[in-house]
Amino acid sequence: MKLIKDVVIIGAGAAGMMCAIEAGKRGRSVLLLDHATKLAEKIRISGGGRCNFTNLYTHPENFLSDNPHFCRSALARFKPQDFVSLLKKHDILYHEKKLGQLFCNDSSQQIINLLQKECNAVNVAWQLSSRVERIDRVNISGEGDSHDQQFILRTDRNTITAKSLVIATGGLSIPQIGASAFGYRVAEQFNISVTSLHPALVALTFRPEDLTHYAEMSGISIDAVISCNGASFHENILFTHRGLSGPAILQISSYWSPGDAIHINLLPQYAITDILSEYKHSAILLTNLLARYLPKRFVDTWSQVMLQTELNPMKPMKQYSDNELNGIVEHLQNWKITPSGTVGYRKAEVTRGGINTRELSSKTMETSKVPGLYFIGEVIDVTGHLGGFNFQWAWSSGYAAGQYV
Ligand code: FAD
Repeated sequence: MKLIKDVVIIGAGAAGMMCAIEAGKRGRSVLLLDHATKLAEKIRISGGGRCNFTNLYTHPENFLSDNPHFCRSALARFKPQDFVSLLKKHDILYHEKKLGQLFCNDSSQQIINLLQKECNAVNVAWQLSSRVERIDRVNISGEGDSHDQQFILRTDRNTITAKSLVIATGGLSIPQIGASAFGYRVAEQFNISVTSLHPALVALTFRPEDLTHYAEMSGISIDAVISCNGASFHENILFTHRGLSGPAILQISSYWSPGDAIHINLLPQYAITDILSEYKHSAILLTNLLARYLPKRFVDTWSQVMLQTELNPMKPMKQYSDNELNGIVEHLQNWKITPSGTVGYRKAEVTRGGINTRELSSKTMETSKVPGLYFIGEVIDVTGHLGGFNFQWAWSSGYAAGQYV
């Protein structure tokens, strides 16, 4: 069977559906193709089932990229408020959880339904559970003009011809629900460069020697400031049976590279030096004093670790020298730890790196080398912080391409 369309979008996720809606509104005939049986599985599982669909305080500074200015234009043309208007149009209730993060009141399925309805309203065609086996770019006029080129896709089901091809296949995270390296392979086929790829927004693992010390802390959550490579985040960290997780760790993982130490301030909201000075002549045990500011289970395990160093944390406060107290402060406010790695793509929320933005127009997402070929969403080297920014990038980049395909 042969199909002729104006636009084929591979990947029926957040970015692909937004692009399809916008292209459809412009009267383009659009086919959305996905190898999964269900569309937008990542939206479904996002935000703990309630989809943190945008962030009210979205700024270019919330994104990592080799080219930090690339995201500006698309973010300026489709803003968080534009997506909120869509929710209002569909009577979907939402709330701000914290720090501008907007979530559905009910379920992330509402966002999928919204996008599907908008696609259907502009006659987008669907082809799910379908595999693209081959992509060719051919000249239909027989002359050298690149505007006479079109794409021929051979799938397990049919042959599709289209003037515009949009790759919206996302990153490598959560292969269990359909993530694949397809987008990067298409880039390779057309000689388009890809920056190095890493799991991001991901938990970090302890080295074996640290695991023996800290595994007992599994389940403890502490408000902390984490720093690495010039970035810093103040949120919770969570000790796990393999290492560290929680929002602050997920955020810093995007800045972390193997071998880097992370710095953790476990008492960011207290002037701990002043507190220790105040009790300097007291008989209270240091551990009992610290347990007023940190979880008791943390202090107990931490004390056992400290006993193996030159600093004994079990003494009455009055027995410490100034030097020792400074050492304690350093351990608690500038704890340096070098993770062994991350828990990998099976658990990561996103992939850092992707299609080199220098290959793309920031206005249209079209590649300069191959007119008619577009990349949108997470497959591009634009990675958002935790908090709704990655969906906002999917909407904004999908919208941008949708105006031009
Ligand atoms: P995707 O949504 O990943 O869509 C890609 C589509 O391409 C999929 O449907 C896939 O099946 C399809 N595809 C892949 N390979 C092929 C192939 N070979 N052939 C055909 N189709 C293919 N971000 C937020 O902003 N807020 C959140 O609350 C949030 N929560 C998250 C929770 C989890 C557990 C995870 C994993 C991610 C979360 N994210 C969140 C990140 C967000 O889901 C992604 O950044 C976003 O979905 C990227 O959109 P996309 O359209 O580029 O790619």
